[in-house]
Amino acid sequence: MINITDKSKCCGCSACVQRCPKQCIVMQGDEEGFLYPHVDVSLCIDCGACETVCPVINQDEPITPLKVFAAKNSDDEQRLCSSSGGVFIRLAEKTICEGGVVFGARFDKYWGVEHSYAETLEELEPLMRSKYVQSRIGNAYKKAECFLRQGRKVLFVGTACQIAGLRKFLHKDYDNLLAVDVICHGVPSPEIWRTYLEHLKYKTNCKTITSIIFRGKQDQGYEWKNYGFVVKGKDSEGKERTICSEGFMLNIYLKGFLYNLYLRPSCHQCPSKDGKNGSDITLADFWGIESLDSEFADNKGVSIVFVQSEKALKVLRKLQGISVVESTLKDATAWNGLFFTSTPYDPNSQKFWRFYKESHNMKEAVEKALYVPIYRMWSNMARNTFNQYTIGIFYKITYILKSMIKK
Ligand SMILES: Cc1cc2nc3c(=O)[nH]c(=O)nc-3n(C[C@H](O)[C@H](O)[C@H](O)COP(=O)(O)OP(=O)(O)OC[C@H]3O[C@@H](n4cnc5c(N)ncnc54)[C@H](O)[C@@H]3O)c2cc1C
Ligand code: SF4
Ligand code: SF4
Ligand code: SF4
Repeated sequence: MINITDKSKCCGCSACVQRCPKQCIVMQGDEEGFLYPHVDVSLCIDCGACETVCPVINQDEPITPLKVFAAKNSDDEQRLCSSSGGVFIRLAEKTICEGGVVFGARFDKYWGVEHSYAETLEELEPLMRSKYVQSRIGNAYKKAECFLRQGRKVLFVGTACQIAGLRKFLHKDYDNLLAVDVICHGVPSPEIWRTYLEHLKYKTNCKTITSIIFRGKQDQGYEWKNYGFVVKGKDSEGKERTICSEGFMLNIYLKGFLYNLYLRPSCHQCPSKDGKNGSDITLADFWGIESLDSEFADNKGVSIVFVQSEKALKVLRKLQGISVVESTLKDATAWNGLFFTSTPYDPNSQKFWRFYKESHNMKEAVEKALYVPIYRMWSNMARNTFNQYTIGIFYKITYILKSMIKK
């Protein structure tokens, strides 16, 4: 029976909940807003099914991708509405046109994030773009299994641990399934997301939010590498306006996320890195493409496509509306080490949660957790300069000694 005593050992995929034959497991939020399974022991028959499907308990071996590509959608409008090169939407359209179903993450009516599915081209738009909040899987694995058994094609996209959970849940491969994960920095706390949105609405006198874009590009006045966070909303008279448009490092929510203040504990010991998740394709941002292929790079977004199976290779060969150039694992990961490793734990995160639990003011808690006093800034700078200076002297002395010994 699943019993979470160490939170870093649960990524919240809900595979256990969906597989339990007695339906005696529920996901419950903790004080940081992350969901964890809780078992009603009075109903449990100790069958062990929940442990068998857990991707943290049963981790795969790392694998090396068969091929690695740089890719971009040839339709610029679609690419600008995507986080990186717009590969997801091409795969999704192909699946729908072949009568299939596409699973991905979308906003719910309260602007939380949940997994859902699309059966028509019109239903795809909400699934596009990265949402930097942990999505609730709900019963998406069960629904996907149902479609797979009916023989319909299924494209399932999620974070690496969500794909690992899906694979363990299904227990066997289906020819009609294409599983796609995204390289994952980690997922921020849904509780902090909720508090941030409340604060934003209050500050801007906004009644209802109408759209949220985490990765605004040229169409929002930003670029792929210098993306912007853009939120629109309506005031009490029903007039729509932009209530937030900030570069990613100026926005307080994204800043706290990128400084790793409120990631899920499992993200610092991710069970599904390095190809350990059974996905057919991994998608990511091709950071550094301009130094490898300046003609292909254009700051509207380029994706890395890691191909992990022959099935995926076949699909990609037939995929239309995408330009690709072959790359290597070494080049593609030179600026994206998160393919292999987890985001390190930052001790400031402990400070953040202490401040947040005192005040429930996320902005203040981020600022306090990241605050460095002036004297510390000076002493850090002095220490760095001193280190560089002494390291320089050390190398010079070693060099002189070596050349003296040679003589
Ligand atoms: C939480 C998160 C962290 C990421 N961290 C990195 C990183 O560190 N480095 C990197 O190179 N790339 C990262 N990515 C991936 C990157 O942002 C793009 O999603 C990816 O390159 C695909 O882009 P696209 O243009 O092909 O498609 P897009 O249209 O941007 O499609 C994004 C796909 O991801 C799914 N998705 C969106 N939000 C979530 C979510 N919260 N949970 C699960 N699935 C979701 C959508 O349903 C869609 O299928 C991250 C993505 C997410 C969601
Ligand atoms: S052991 Fe079986 S019955 Fe008990 S919680 Fe796990 S899956 Fe459910
Ligand atoms: S990682 Fe997934 S399967 Fe394992 S305990 Fe957590 S929610 Fe359940
Ligand atoms: S970092 Fe790993 S554990 Fe965290 S959400 Fe991403 S895939 Fe899951």
